[in-house]
Amino acid sequence: MHTEPANEIAIDIRDVSFAYPRSGGTPLVALEHVSIQVRAGERLGILGPNGGGKSTLLKLMLGLLTPGSGEILICGRPPHEARRARRVGYVPQRVEAELAFPISAREAVLMAIELGTPPWAGRSRGSRDLASECLERVGANAFADRPVGSLSGGQLQRVMIARALGRRPRVLLMDEPTVGIDPSGQQRFGELVSRLRTELGLTIVIVSHDVRAIAAGCDRVACLSRTLHYHDAPAGLTPAVLAEVFKHDLAAVFGDVHMDAHRAAECATPAHSHTHAHGPGCPHDHSTRPHEGSAEGET
Ligand code: ADP
Ligand code: MG
Repeated sequence: MHTEPANEIAIDIRDVSFAYPRSGGTPLVALEHVSIQVRAGERLGILGPNGGGKSTLLKLMLGLLTPGSGEILICGRPPHEARRARRVGYVPQRVEAELAFPISAREAVLMAIELGTPPWAGRSRGSRDLASECLERVGANAFADRPVGSLSGGQLQRVMIARALGRRPRVLLMDEPTVGIDPSGQQRFGELVSRLRTELGLTIVIVSHDVRAIAAGCDRVACLSRTLHYHDAPAGLTPAVLAEVFKHDLAAVFGDVHMDAHRAAECATPAHSHTHAHGPGCPHDHSTRPHEGSAEGET
């Protein structure tokens, strides 16, 4: 079941661009020429500022959006097929995951498992066993029968991960998983991610604007601010690289950080990284036109 050969590419994002149409205006370019390959069993963190295109990229991987150009393959299939074949589990951003209705954590996991089966079919023994297995795997046994609305941020997140695992995915995508979770919860989250990788052989993609969330539990980091700025081991995430990726956020707070950003770009070319899409020769391209992502704000 979990025996993909090493080095198999689980996620292949090739030269993907995407723009949101705007009524009466030029389309809003969210992603430009993004290429990322994730090997089976790898944990990739995608780090970037608000509006950098992280959620858009996840929605493309889920087949909820279609690239304007380029191609995405998940386990060798187009995203919508991979999702239909239950290859992909998705843990949405917390705000979207807030479940106010009075069901227990266990019910929430069962619902995800039985999605697509008619309600009159009743809960099968197999589904209930799988729900218990998923809840146990994420360490949610102790609060499995409590109403979802009464759980803490960290507990709710575990339940959301259990829901995603209920589909027995090969690839797990998580959007801003550590938002609203305290530091000890974040550490436990990192441990959980490592364990899921080891026990289930999952390929895991974590998207976040939080450096700690990414650095703690990932083998590789891709920095995304409309284009890809860095794509390598977390150890290469130097302050210079971060300044480059977050320069529009920094500029919004401190004014122009033009000079620093240039220096950052010059440093951001370690031997084995794929630097951003324009290549290491022209690190100044981004500053020659407005950055629509941060200018538009967060949605
Ligand atoms: P992130 O998740 O990194 O914060 P997003 O992918 O949500 O970034 O957004 C990237 C850019 O696309 C932002 O400029 C955002 O305002 C814009 N955007 C996101 N969703 C939509 C949408 N549904 N319609 C129009 N523009 C959007
Ligand atoms: Mg987002």
